[in-house]
Amino acid sequence: MIEFNLESYKKIVFKTIKKYNLIEEGDNIFVGVSGGKDSGSACYLVSNYIKQNRINCKLVAFYIKLGNFIPERIVDVIKKQADICQIELKIYNVNDFGIFYEKIAKLNRPICSSCGTIKRYLMNKIIRQEGATKLCTGHHGDDFIVFFMKNLIGKNIEWISKFTPLVKGEKKQISRIRPLFFVGGDDNKNFCDKVGFPYINEDICPHKFLKQKIDRRREKWYQTIKEISKWQPNFREYFLEGVIEIAKNLYKNLSLPLECEICGEPTNKKICSYCRLLKLQEKIENPI
Ligand SMILES: [Zn+2]
Repeated sequence: MIEFNLESYKKIVFKTIKKYNLIEEGDNIFVGVSGGKDSGSACYLVSNYIKQNRINCKLVAFYIKLGNFIPERIVDVIKKQADICQIELKIYNVNDFGIFYEKIAKLNRPICSSCGTIKRYLMNKIIRQEGATKLCTGHHGDDFIVFFMKNLIGKNIEWISKFTPLVKGEKKQISRIRPLFFVGGDDNKNFCDKVGFPYINEDICPHKFLKQKIDRRREKWYQTIKEISKWQPNFREYFLEGVIEIAKNLYKNLSLPLECEICGEPTNKKICSYCRLLKLQEKIENPI
């Protein structure tokens, strides 16, 4: 989609929801919001879809605040987003789970990777305890193309098995839905602008507040997708359909998740990466 068209954008998202059966009667869907355009679009469109199709299910927005350094204006925008969608908003703080980004930032590892570990872990654990049936996120098509390439290069083939609009949950792992799977990041921005949906139009990652270095390569990947889309019509759609086929085949051979020996949460190792991170953080607290 080069030229933005509101109707065709909505059509693509609604078609994804329907085709992949992302929303079902009786569901209790938790949509993770950050205040940005992507999770905002997902929240707005899913609530719209539920209303339009009169599906008997529950939708809740939730926000995991990454610490007290996060400015209050971000929380204000999130509250407005939930108000417009007329859904309940739940707010959690990572400090209440023993995580302190001020300390994580001092570890000798990239903060973006630690942040990913923390968010993936807490999102799954918190909403499962709240009785959720599905986790909805604002990941979009460009994200998945970039994830796919990076994981292919890094030979993390197992990860690719999760690159589908619906990832069925196993054991303690909640099912994940991605209604924006076939649209791009710019489309989400255009959508919010067009319908007047509020979002934070700035970098809201913790590295900014904690003055950490950021990997600029990610931006270049997104630019590359845009370039290809200019001369290859429907590049995103075709590429992602191919990714889904590969993912489906890989998923069949996937082993069930294990349970972490410390916390009991799903992992593919003995000790989950969240518990390992907590241990590293302890060393920052009590340097010997
Ligand atoms: Zn653990």
